[in-house]
Amino acid sequence: MSFSVQLLKWWDDHGRKDLPWQHPRSAYRVWVSEIMLQQTQVKTVIPYFDRFIERFPDIQTLAEASNDEVMANWSGLGYYARARNLLKTANICVESSGAGLPMTPEALAALPGIGESTANAIYSQAYDKPAVILDGNVKRVLTRYFAVEGWPGKSSIHRLLWNKAEQLLPKKRGADFSQAIMDLGATICTRSRPACELCPVSGECQAFNNGTVEKYPASRPRIKISKKSFQMLILTNDEDKVLLERRPPAGIWGGLWSLPADDTGQPVQQRLGINSNALQSLPNMSHQLTHIHMTIQPFIGHTEPGATGVECGPEQRWFARHEWPGLGLPKPVRQLLELHLENSRK
Ligand code: SF4
Repeated sequence: MSFSVQLLKWWDDHGRKDLPWQHPRSAYRVWVSEIMLQQTQVKTVIPYFDRFIERFPDIQTLAEASNDEVMANWSGLGYYARARNLLKTANICVESSGAGLPMTPEALAALPGIGESTANAIYSQAYDKPAVILDGNVKRVLTRYFAVEGWPGKSSIHRLLWNKAEQLLPKKRGADFSQAIMDLGATICTRSRPACELCPVSGECQAFNNGTVEKYPASRPRIKISKKSFQMLILTNDEDKVLLERRPPAGIWGGLWSLPADDTGQPVQQRLGINSNALQSLPNMSHQLTHIHMTIQPFIGHTEPGATGVECGPEQRWFARHEWPGLGLPKPVRQLLELHLENSRK
């Protein structure tokens, strides 16, 4: 029996068929789920997906939304470039065709935030076509099944896996097959202690038959973590509002509202024309991103905009407390506001 026949047979009995993007299965819903799933696990994505779809039920509604609204509904999921790309893609699709997403993998892959594998995942899931997908779960299954050496994130290994995955595709049931191979990776061929005894393709799995499952997939080469220290200012006014600035579109927390910071170079007090003697220093806060260890040195102060010359530019605004939950604030900014402004009220 071929790989696909064995896998589909297993999936019919054991696969996941109740994921929210499967009912109903539309290109729009599959696309949103695939983008959310790019760096996040299924169980984390589900509540975000439900909330996002409730607020933006179709691509037209999403295209009409503001950047802030989309960010607010993404807040907490991280990797915010994904949300910005969703909005950009919605605008491109609605403006160019007035309708939905394109129907070929090539046209899908040309849109912001949709790579080759995500394009195929959408194509396969939304239109029930056989197509190669290579998310983390699938890569793990394939490196073990074919005993492929080398880190799957490396482009030559990725290409090798892609070619091997093409050999396994069925002629029909494209959507089920894509879901089945992802499910196999997520539930049986897991990162640690895979349940090989329950695996439908163990008979042909090279790593299993050689007793070398632990060897695959090869680990990612160690990434270099850089360190970054910068100041952040919590500035309130007499209306009990706090000053926030929109971050530049590219770079850390691109496009999000944040407390004024000096990580772009100029000291923040100097940039805003504030007397630093009036500011109180707060304990440092650490925050870890994938490649960066941050040390944030917060300051707090109180001012009246007119009296101190803090003029708000287009990317600066005073926000009331009840507005914070509606903004896509970076995690340490939200923590600083909650910690220090909540305390200051008591
Ligand atoms: S036999 Fe084990 S290692 Fe091989 S594909 Fe199945 S679960 Fe993965």
